[in-house]
Amino acid sequence: MLVQRAYVLRCPECQDPIALPHQIPIETIGGLPHLTTGIWPLTYWCENCATLSVHREEDARLVGVEVQAQSPYAEILWLIEFECGPEGYEKQFSIYTKRLAIPLEDDAAQRVIALSGLCEGFPVRGLRTSRFLPNQ
Ligand SMILES: [Zn+2]
Repeated sequence: MLVQRAYVLRCPECQDPIALPHQIPIETIGGLPHLTTGIWPLTYWCENCATLSVHREEDARLVGVEVQAQSPYAEILWLIEFECGPEGYEKQFSIYTKRLAIPLEDDAAQRVIALSGLCEGFPVRGLRTSRFLPNQ
């Protein structure tokens, strides 16, 4: 088993680990590892226990994780971006979710948005899904 170090968050409900892509640039500020991307606060949808949670940069822990990059069934992070809200007051949202490494279909993304409750019944606009890769 290959192990590498990665930043990991945990679902507050079921403790399921959320490994951030290891390419996330890290710099040292005040002697502590510091993630430099603009992903924080990170809103995460846990498929395991159907819970939406918000994570701060300080919540990430550097741990050893099993490398599964070569497996077609490896779980990866997907980013779902969309807007919704009352007309003229739409807000932008980003939800991260962990899925098998297959395309995240729009209807699956719509289901996550509906279950998250973020749109409170307002129509979803500008839906975009992408495999989450960190800024280089
Ligand atoms: Zn969970």
